[in-house]
Amino acid sequence: MRLIIFGPPGAGKGTQAGLLEERQDLVQISTGDIIREAMKNETPVGKEAKSYVESGELVPDEVVRKLAENAIADEDYDDVVLDGYPRTTQQAEWLTTFMEEHDIAIDAVLSLEVPDDVIVERLSRRRVHEETGETYHLDHDPPPEDVDSDLIVQREDDQPETVRTRLSVYREETQPLEDYYAERDLLVSIDGQGDIDEVYSRIESALDTRVAPPEA
Ligand code: AMP
Repeated sequence: MRLIIFGPPGAGKGTQAGLLEERQDLVQISTGDIIREAMKNETPVGKEAKSYVESGELVPDEVVRKLAENAIADEDYDDVVLDGYPRTTQQAEWLTTFMEEHDIAIDAVLSLEVPDDVIVERLSRRRVHEETGETYHLDHDPPPEDVDSDLIVQREDDQPETVRTRLSVYREETQPLEDYYAERDLLVSIDGQGDIDEVYSRIESALDTRVAPPEA
């Protein structure tokens, strides 16, 4: 199965993709995580991406394309959930071509719907473990007490100013992909509000009705 998980920053893409990895045996491919890792290791890609990520802008399409395509190839082109890719029409077109070249297809695009006020609240309360990348919400999912609190930090791009930029970039560049995938009959809207398990069970029921079980 090949899925895309789609939605504004703070919609819960990473969290739900993590659960799909655990419970559906898919591999989560997060271009955001790959880019943050590259930044941490100061690789050429990391150095190129840094200023874009920190200001809330998108990293250039060609850079992200290579990261995503290599990661999909590493998983033998199957059993993946793409988290944060594609994010522009250009990326979506490249992905369609890439899939066709390898004679495969996306099964569904799960679009997490969350109103702006909830997003701003979630991102302002989001914290991340500096080393493991595990994310928390200060009120609903706080870091466990045995975790060293010095390692719990706020992502640079979760600062209010940057969140505003990310939301407007999302509306301009990424939201049009809803139409792109709706036209291809792949878009499945999921209510992204409520607790993590509630949202996950909506995803699961959507997948049950959408994605046929593998042939015996
Ligand atoms: P995320 O963790 O998915 O919110 O991604 C964090 C940041 O990484 C984004 O704000 C972008 O700067 C960059 N990024 C991640 N995925 C992409 C993508 N598909 N295209 C362009 N930039 C991306």
